Amino acid sequence: MLRCHCGRVATLPLPSPTRDAVETWVDDHLGHLFDGPAIGSPAFRGGQRSADAALAAFDVRGYAATRNEVAPIERRGASRLSPYIRHGLLPLPEVWRAVGGGPNRDVEKFRDELLWQEYSRHWYARLGRATTDPVRNAPTDVRPGDGWDRMLPCLNAVVGELEQDGWLVNQTRMWLAGDWTVRHGQDWRRGEDRFFRHLLDGSRAANRLGWQWTTGVGSNKPYGFSRWQVEKRAPGLCKRCPHRDACPIDAWPDEPSFVSVDWPAEIDLTGPDEIVTHAAPDTVWLTAESLGTTDPALSLNPGLPAVFVFDEPLLARLRLDSKRLVFLTETLAELAEGHDLELRLGDPVDELVGRSLAVTHAPVPGFADRASVIRPAEVHPWPWLRQPQPGSVRSFSAWRKKVDRR
Ligand SMILES: Cc1cc2nc3c(=O)[nH]c(=O)nc-3n(C[C@H](O)[C@H](O)[C@H](O)COP(=O)(O)OP(=O)(O)OC[C@H]3O[C@@H](n4cnc5c(N)ncnc54)[C@H](O)[C@@H]3O)c2cc1C
Repeated sequence: MLRCHCGRVATLPLPSPTRDAVETWVDDHLGHLFDGPAIGSPAFRGGQRSADAALAAFDVRGYAATRNEVAPIERRGASRLSPYIRHGLLPLPEVWRAVGGGPNRDVEKFRDELLWQEYSRHWYARLGRATTDPVRNAPTDVRPGDGWDRMLPCLNAVVGELEQDGWLVNQTRMWLAGDWTVRHGQDWRRGEDRFFRHLLDGSRAANRLGWQWTTGVGSNKPYGFSRWQVEKRAPGLCKRCPHRDACPIDAWPDEPSFVSVDWPAEIDLTGPDEIVTHAAPDTVWLTAESLGTTDPALSLNPGLPAVFVFDEPLLARLRLDSKRLVFLTETLAELAEGHDLELRLGDPVDELVGRSLAVTHAPVPGFADRASVIRPAEVHPWPWLRQPQPGSVRSFSAWRKKVDRR
């Protein structure tokens, strides 16, 4: 039996895919990497079946008018596909195709949002860890406790949803980010980390871009959250609020101050645009970026077993909420029903170096670091929605013109 540095067993048994069994498995094998007992999100299940069912059930009709609605929940028009998109269970090109045939206005708006997701991935692949560098909101405050005023029902409900479900509509992400930074002058990077710990779709790409955009760091105008948005997007909430006659967010917040910084040097983590083979692989390495059954390396090597490593040093550092680990484990448990899957716990480099692996390139710095040592035998291109092009990724509109031209 193999053991990692800390003495724990590096090869893990396979979990059964029921929620109870997965929660117990996560407690037993990953319990040292998060706080409290393992509790899955009541709003989302991991796994390809749930991803496919969510996509099949999504009706794009009405999306443009209702995507920003918050409450009551029945008025929300958002697709809730993001946790599956984030982990590669629903690649963007598949989601793009799935809404074809719907009303033009709704299809256009929805596809526009898919392009924002794609842009965030290109942006992150070209800036990597330097995406935290443009700290142009000058932090002036560190609020005690939570960072959000939980006495206000509008904020309390949204933070509660983030912590319990691990998911928020775009509109309430902007409320929380705007309140944190624009109104209270807190460092956007701390808020981004708070989101990242809880979100099932948490990605450094879209999360950082979202925080910067809201804060005004990466956009022309900061998003000033105030009572006005609550009344518009969650009608009725203010009427029941004990602070309705002295609402502390009644007025528009002042413009935050910015510090100008240089645009970071761009890199290129976009990966190959065709399969690169150095030797014949005998195993497929799956990463958290690409856990779907259509993962290119997996689907093009149908006879090979697969391996996934829970990155113990990374998880120990991040201390993600257990919902995310339950979501990932549900996905892997389901995958193991149709594939010969090996699960390991440890540092992916220690666990995988020397093996002959096929992998799908992931356009993120963590993959680049590990792959440069593991040196996979076969690397498959990332399934981009728009092929990366040379040139800066400074603005969405300029980027879009460039990628649309192809
Ligand atoms: C502060 C902040 C933090 C965010 N953090 C994340 C994050 O960690 N991960 C993440 O995937 N998205 C993030 N977003 C973007 C967006 O809020 C979510 O993608 C969206 O709310 C997910 O819900 P949905 O699947 O119902 O979206 P829908 O409205 O149904 O959109 C469909 C898909 O389009 C993409 N999309 C929609 N809006 C955006 C957007 N503004 N930026 C990028 N992609 C978008 C997502 O992949 C989404 O699943 C963040 C936005 C903000 C303002």
